[in-house]
Amino acid sequence: MNPIKSAWTILKVWAYDHSKFHKRLYDDAGICPGDIHSLADIRNVPKVEKSMMRDIQNKDPFPYGDGLCVPLKEVSTFRQTSGTTGQPVYQPDTWQDWEWWSECWAFILWAQGYRPKDRVFLPFGYNIFVAFWAGHYAAEKLGCEVVPGGVLDTQARILKIQELSATAMMATPTYILRMAEVAKHKMGIHPASLSIDKITCAGEPGAGIPATKKRMEEAFGAKVYDHSGATEIGAWSYECSHQPLGMHVNEAMFLVEIEDVETGEIIEEAGKQGKMVITALDRMAQPCIRFDSKDVIEWDKNPCTCGRSFRLIRGGVIGRADDITKVKGVLLSPAAIEEVVRSFDGLGDEYEVVVDRPGDMNRRALKRERLIWVSKSETEGRLRDQLRLKTNLGYGIEFFGYGSLPRYKLKAKRFKDLRKKHSLHREEGI
Ligand SMILES: [Zn+2]
Repeated sequence: MNPIKSAWTILKVWAYDHSKFHKRLYDDAGICPGDIHSLADIRNVPKVEKSMMRDIQNKDPFPYGDGLCVPLKEVSTFRQTSGTTGQPVYQPDTWQDWEWWSECWAFILWAQGYRPKDRVFLPFGYNIFVAFWAGHYAAEKLGCEVVPGGVLDTQARILKIQELSATAMMATPTYILRMAEVAKHKMGIHPASLSIDKITCAGEPGAGIPATKKRMEEAFGAKVYDHSGATEIGAWSYECSHQPLGMHVNEAMFLVEIEDVETGEIIEEAGKQGKMVITALDRMAQPCIRFDSKDVIEWDKNPCTCGRSFRLIRGGVIGRADDITKVKGVLLSPAAIEEVVRSFDGLGDEYEVVVDRPGDMNRRALKRERLIWVSKSETEGRLRDQLRLKTNLGYGIEFFGYGSLPRYKLKAKRFKDLRKKHSLHREEGI
């Protein structure tokens, strides 16, 4: 029997029988577990949106609502989403789910060359966000030695990495660049002199953006690997040590479908972008079945040179369907802007993009920090040309002194679309 079909059937029956939320969803759609006979039938199963998870939570059983498939007393871990796109979603996991999380991450770390001899430093605040928690447990599971960087500040973390000769770390791209900046400019330590030889990134698309990846790799003299996961899904994809300019989907543990944003059709062919609809095959307490992730991805037409048969998504997660916005009728992805702005030498790592609408005009401004040796007019011209070439839009560019733009520890907010705010204010008569 097809293992995916088998796992799917078990999970589907499980959710239908144990959760009022899923039963309601399927009954309303006129589908029941007995209707699922093939992979094609899965496409008739209704999708779950993040907003639906928000709607049921805080109801009985508190605080998760009736999407919960196990008795409340079996829940061993609480996490919540970061809330960057709205009210956070709460995620219950049993101990069995937590072992599953670690297994997902063990796939990632092994593929990226983590071995028992590694000493892994985790420079993140251990808290209610899932972030690198499962990475911690997976590294232990592989036999690595794990150093939890917890509440240490950035300088203390760098000193600890130096003292212990840590060989690997996991953080967001924003924080990796922040650490490099602090080491270099505040501590007089060149990050490449540390013993870090591999870095696993998550939380933001930076490690999949070639210019940002190059900045991180050059700063630390280390290999930087991308990974994508989410609190309500799990750790579903990863870049392997062959760095194939994309990520493998962990098809042993997840079923990934790509849906055409316009037509809703499932995309099978390579090279065509759509949003990901994903199912976690073994998650029990709060199952993830046909979750509408809004991540924009596309299949790669080539297999990876590493020999893994798990399919590749080209360029990793390209963006979020929510983030890709229309400006003057042109589709604009923040990742496309980042690829251009981070490819310029002599500029700082921080930038900000503002899309505004003063009067009836869309205005796009790029704010960028300048290191002192850069020729402003020459750089400004080249930046403007490259941005127009890659995004088909013009920009006003402002340069700021080093250190004047905001710094972020986890997910950065560098793309600001003020147009909705203005129209909202107009509607409210403010
Ligand atoms: Zn590979």
